[in-house]
Amino acid sequence: MGECIVAHLGDGDWIVVDSCLDTNSREPIALDYLKSMDIDVSSAVKLVVATHWHDDHIKGLAKVLRTAEGAKFVESIVFDQKLLMRLAKAGAMMGANASATDEYSAIFDILLARQQKGENPKTVGPFRAIANKPLLSLSTGRTVKAEVVALSPSDGTYNRAQTDLLEAIRFVTRERRRPASRQGPNQLCVALWLKVGEVRTILGADLEHAAGITEGWNAIVNSGERPQGQAEIFKVPHHGSLNAHSQECWTDLLRGRPIAVLTPYSPSKLPSQADIDRLCKQTNQLFVTGDHGRYKVPRLNQSVEKTLRESKVKRRALEGRMGHVRIRVDAREPNLLPTVELFNGAEPKCS
Ligand SMILES: [Zn+2]
Repeated sequence: MGECIVAHLGDGDWIVVDSCLDTNSREPIALDYLKSMDIDVSSAVKLVVATHWHDDHIKGLAKVLRTAEGAKFVESIVFDQKLLMRLAKAGAMMGANASATDEYSAIFDILLARQQKGENPKTVGPFRAIANKPLLSLSTGRTVKAEVVALSPSDGTYNRAQTDLLEAIRFVTRERRRPASRQGPNQLCVALWLKVGEVRTILGADLEHAAGITEGWNAIVNSGERPQGQAEIFKVPHHGSLNAHSQECWTDLLRGRPIAVLTPYSPSKLPSQADIDRLCKQTNQLFVTGDHGRYKVPRLNQSVEKTLRESKVKRRALEGRMGHVRIRVDAREPNLLPTVELFNGAEPKCS
């Protein structure tokens, strides 16, 4: 499991969205990839984005930011209450499952070290994403214009988080009997709009579908202020799960039969075959970076297998190579068909 996206915005400028570690080198996969192409990460990467604080999206993110010395760090404007609690109790909480806390603390240290002269230390922190806020706009001295705009979280999600926080305070001060509700990290996600030349991409993060019209994908679809046009490329949200599916997203935000890419999430066995079937009704160009069922335990020779059996030793596959989907398109010639290349077991799903 693990998801990381690197996007070239043309003219040597890059962004990194989320992070995971290469299973062999244990390095952030984005750094391995960019360095393999001789890209100077310290100056070329303009944004490092944490879409949300789930383990499959953040491992190695601090190292990416440390290396990307010229990058802005972007995070949702809505702070994850659970992460906040964990940070407050950090000393006691450090342990096997505290990678979000560790990464966040390390990133905060980097931001503190980078504070400018004249900057109030209390104001140091991430560049905050909220729906329809431009995060990056590149135009002067370039062959193509490029922009990155946040599509979420919505104002509704932000307002709900404030209400939840007030309720949490009232619960602590005993003005309220029931504990406060809390939005999960997937609801607070930063989905992104990328436009390079005339090529548009939506990166759906793990943003879920919500019943309310001012939350989740509904809020994006219903927004009058969102960037205009339909995207040709789509990072399918939340590993293809049903609870992240918005039919209006496919019909309103995306062009007919876009190139769609998703990553698997092994602990929940996402995507399921039903998810794949549903997505293949939306597009015939669906690509998955890997298959959570693939990593079978290799068979050893007979006598070794027998000894292991007799000793009641059980084996399981811990890792395989990270799958990778690469989409290339000439931003100056949008009518040329994009090329899709598949590496390390990534595969098309609708053919
Ligand atoms: Zn995820």
